[in-house]
Amino acid sequence: MDLNEIIQAKQEKTCYFCSQAAKEIDYKDVEILKRFLSAGYKIKKRKYTGLCAWHQRKFARAVKRARQMALLPYLPPIF
Ligand SMILES: [Zn+2]
Repeated sequence: MDLNEIIQAKQEKTCYFCSQAAKEIDYKDVEILKRFLSAGYKIKKRKYTGLCAWHQRKFARAVKRARQMALLPYLPPIF
């Protein structure tokens, strides 16, 4: 894999919410939000989520709202 192929592969990576043509990210869709959270329920970086800047911001806001509404935990459960 040469440099040009790497650059091309990076450019072809599309944002999940753009592919769904989502204008708003619903904070009640916990299952979708969980996809982009780490094992420790932290918001992953854009590098790892593959979201565009606009949707990453919307996603981060949705996660924070979901946490406030107790739909998502702030920390992973401790047994
Ligand atoms: Zn997007």
